[in-house]
Amino acid sequence: MKLTRFKRRGYVQQPTPVCFLPGLSQALGGEVNIYIKRDDFLPGCAGGNKTRKLDFVMADVLEKKADCVITCGGVQSNHCRLTLSWAVHEGLDCYLVLEERVKNSYDPRATGNNLLYHLMGVKGIKVIPGDASSPEAMQELADELIREGRRPYIIPGGASNPMGTLGYMNCAQEITQQMFQMDTDIQYVVVPSGSAGTQAGLLTGFYVDQTNIEVIGCDVSRPADAQTEKVRNLASDTLHYLGINEEFPSERVHCFDKFFYPGYSLPNAGMVEAVRLMARTESILLDPVYSGKAMAGLIDLLRTGYFPKGSNVLFIHTGGVPALYKYSSAFFESSGGNGKTSF
Ligand SMILES: *Cc1c(COP(=O)(O)O)cnc(C)c1O
Repeated sequence: MKLTRFKRRGYVQQPTPVCFLPGLSQALGGEVNIYIKRDDFLPGCAGGNKTRKLDFVMADVLEKKADCVITCGGVQSNHCRLTLSWAVHEGLDCYLVLEERVKNSYDPRATGNNLLYHLMGVKGIKVIPGDASSPEAMQELADELIREGRRPYIIPGGASNPMGTLGYMNCAQEITQQMFQMDTDIQYVVVPSGSAGTQAGLLTGFYVDQTNIEVIGCDVSRPADAQTEKVRNLASDTLHYLGINEEFPSERVHCFDKFFYPGYSLPNAGMVEAVRLMARTESILLDPVYSGKAMAGLIDLLRTGYFPKGSNVLFIHTGGVPALYKYSSAFFESSGGNGKTSF
């Protein structure tokens, strides 16, 4: 599938590296080969998956001649950080609507992504309760800005609309080409799944190019049945956007929610183990909200025999590392007893 007919800004100039992870594969028994694709190395402040989607969405922002962007996310949103980052790059103002998905979780002085919002000069932050509607809050903010004579553009949460999803169709094409260059056949891709554009884009990309790779989404914000529907709907919408008049086949959508508990952004033991194991075997940092939970899913699937012996599994590192510093207490508390910190 040729994606050049869609406008983009060129933020993604070259494929992100794919590497074998010998230490992690060995630590997990050595029967399955684990590879990683370093989308945490994508450009934009502190990197991550939203850059691929914003590459396309920001082209539309400029085409519509907007002078500022509005987007939304959790209080430590990587998507908000990267939207702001690319807005700075384009010389546009950026306003954020932050959802308090965990009650009282907004701390105006928090480190992690929150610090980066301020460093990069966010123009406004509006905090809303987790059960309030962020599309409505963004529209209200847009109406206010229009009354002031501005031309705002609303980017949906996670930039997960069909336009943004094209960014992960391109990632699917990169993977296929990299497998060819490495002469390595990958059977499974494991990726975190939240606003769903990443998983839906990989699925759609492999589907339209008839590439037989199973994509497993590890849910970070909702149970498997709801996430499956969300991913499938976005994949279908993306097919329609491409002019392909069919629904995305539901049997291709696999969502795994074992490490979603106790809820979005809240730590669990599997995540802590995964972040630690990755740091100690490969010295690669994962984040506690997305990639750590997805790696916990990969480890669990491996241990329960989901991947046949000799399988090659590709983990997509979607970024998010700034949040590690905000949630550091999860890693100290669970490693020591008697109130003492031990490692
Ligand atoms: C947003 C995000 C995801 C989830 O991607 P979606 O396309 O929203 O499903 C995964 N990892 C990180 C680090 C993210 O910021």
